[in-house]
Amino acid sequence: NTNPRTILITGGAGFIGSNFIAYLLKYHSADTIVNLDVLTYAGNLENLKEVEDNPRYSFVKGDIRDRELVHSLFVEHHFTHVVNFAAESHVDRSIVDPELFLTTNIIGTEVLLDEAKKSWKLHPDDKYNKDFQEGVRFHQVSTDEVYGALGKEGLFTETLPLLPNSPYSASKASADLIVRAYHETYGLPVTISRCSNNYGPFQFPEKLIPLMINNCLKDKSLPVYGDGMQIRDWLHVIDHCSAIDTILDKGTIGEIYNIGGNNEKANIEIVKLIIKTVGKSEDLITYVKDRPGHDRRYAIDNTKITSQLGWKPSYTFEQGMEETIQWYLDNQQWIERVVSGDYQRYYERMY
Ligand code: NAD
Repeated sequence: NTNPRTILITGGAGFIGSNFIAYLLKYHSADTIVNLDVLTYAGNLENLKEVEDNPRYSFVKGDIRDRELVHSLFVEHHFTHVVNFAAESHVDRSIVDPELFLTTNIIGTEVLLDEAKKSWKLHPDDKYNKDFQEGVRFHQVSTDEVYGALGKEGLFTETLPLLPNSPYSASKASADLIVRAYHETYGLPVTISRCSNNYGPFQFPEKLIPLMINNCLKDKSLPVYGDGMQIRDWLHVIDHCSAIDTILDKGTIGEIYNIGGNNEKANIEIVKLIIKTVGKSEDLITYVKDRPGHDRRYAIDNTKITSQLGWKPSYTFEQGMEETIQWYLDNQQWIERVVSGDYQRYYERMY
């Protein structure tokens, strides 16, 4: 893509957002990016070290729920696109504090949509806004968890009803519906993607793969929920980035795209693979009481994005996992700083 785009990326200091920013800067030399992130426990500017001096990148510390701030960013920049990653993203935390998930994931999305809707009036002569009279192009990063759980058979397609089971997935499903409503009611040019579980560098070590790698390295027990037979569809984060990039470029306005890599794995399989690769013993596994409402199986039908937009994943699961485990082995200091909370001081040092 050579058209100059100015993209507001929210939640860009998190796991997927930081990978996405590096991806865009690498592959789109005409893009300018503003990263809005409030830096919760999950936001880590160290993830963006490689790009922080890039003149096409800037960071704003702030909350997507802060209407005034979001408005001022739309006044200051002629955004052509918004990609909304900002969210509370950990299911276990949503069980403890649902309200935080509702305000961030739902109200925060609504604030962004509202400012995106109004923005063309701020910059009526903007080339992009002439094409999209209704507002800037808005992409919502969502999850397959909005569909609820599958039985042993079947796949999630985009037309399935939303049946979320956790406060996290219910908040993401709600946000998807608000995004849809802004398109149907106000004509805002939106797209939504629903991706399966991601793995790769810079994932906060509370999530399955980095948690297990970290515990393995420290010879700590590996807590596995229930019988460990919960099945998830895994995708390398770079493949998620390339899928969003493809949707921004070629996706049809108003459409929803599932993203997945056809890699169904039981949690216990992943844990055993990590143990084997790191060279530890399966005795470290400890089965713990299952999470309430724990969905049994997720699996994505990615036919729409592969056949209509020509996207396909580039990583095999084996290659992706090998590289990812190696990355965590090579970046143990990163894990240390995240676990100890040291990374939070990085912002004070840099800004
Ligand atoms: P993450 O928890 O690593 O990062 C979330 C980021 O959002 C953090 O940097 C945090 O500081 C920021 N943030 C939180 N609340 C904010 C607020 N009020 N204002 C501004 N910034 C705020 O999450 P992730 O794994 O990178 O996920 C990113 C998005 O992708 C989320 O919307 C998530 O629902 C979705 N998603 C994740 C996965 C996955 O496997 N991780 C799969 C599918 C979809």
